[in-house]
Amino acid sequence: MLHYDLHCHSTYSDGLLPPADVVRLAASRGVEVLALTDHDETAGLEEAQDAAREAGITLVNGAELSVTWQDHTLHVVALGIDPANKTLHTGLENVRLGRDGRARRIAESLAQAGIHDALEGARAYVTSESLISRTHFARFLAEMGHVHDVRDAFKRFLAPGKPGYVPHDWTSLPDALAWIGAAGGQAVLAHPGRYRVTATDMRHLLAEFRDGGGAAIEVLSSSHTPAQNVEYATLARVFGLKGSCGSDYHGPGESWMEFGDLPPLPVGVTPVWDGW
Ligand code: AMP
Ligand code: MN
Ligand code: MN
Ligand code: MN
Repeated sequence: MLHYDLHCHSTYSDGLLPPADVVRLAASRGVEVLALTDHDETAGLEEAQDAAREAGITLVNGAELSVTWQDHTLHVVALGIDPANKTLHTGLENVRLGRDGRARRIAESLAQAGIHDALEGARAYVTSESLISRTHFARFLAEMGHVHDVRDAFKRFLAPGKPGYVPHDWTSLPDALAWIGAAGGQAVLAHPGRYRVTATDMRHLLAEFRDGGGAAIEVLSSSHTPAQNVEYATLARVFGLKGSCGSDYHGPGESWMEFGDLPPLPVGVTPVWDGW
């Protein structure tokens, strides 16, 4: 079976490597089918496609959409999209615009906690003009010595309930699913084990996601424990959803998993790539 990794990031969102480097690194570590899934952005896909052709691997056009469901932020990975599709393109553009106002609010909130000039500081780490994320604030906080590293920055400042966290309205789940459908893609619920929802709410979410046209959930993710991998394999089967897998690679020193280290999809789960 081919080695699939259907979730990673480049400098077009909050990854550390340009798309071509991401592709070359993945290929060198045995990935044969890779999806580049930058946050709310598809601008890196052309470069990634060129690099994949050279490296002799398959690149799946992807993106990771930020969604608000109830009072939770969810991530929905889109696979096999046409990045030129107008509905998707305009939708993502609006989500990215929302990030600017949110970044200003994050900076204000950090200022109240005694950390000044964070907006300028975070912007110095931005590598794609229209995409500022909490990761860029995390790198700034680490550089300034306010925290040990990026993970520590989330733990102490950028996670829900912390002084630098601000709520934000992303796009709705129905809209995200509609955009992905319009662009001819498949929707995958990213790292379901990461959401702080009750078991009952997770079931509601999975049903809503499937009934709204969602195709799969990430059964294997670097943010899952081995027990969660098993749990979501079962839930995928129970809810009639396919299974996907992704390292969520962000770059050297900032990733929970290296390319090539994903285990095979558990037996009994229909892969999202079934029928590709
Ligand atoms: P944003 O889309 O701006 O809210 O940023 C979300 C990104 O922050 C995720 O895609 C991760 O790259 C990063 N992130 C979130 N939580 C953590 C964490 N606990 N440790 C390290 N990075 C994190
Ligand atoms: Mn990220
Ligand atoms: Mn994510
Ligand atoms: Mn991701």
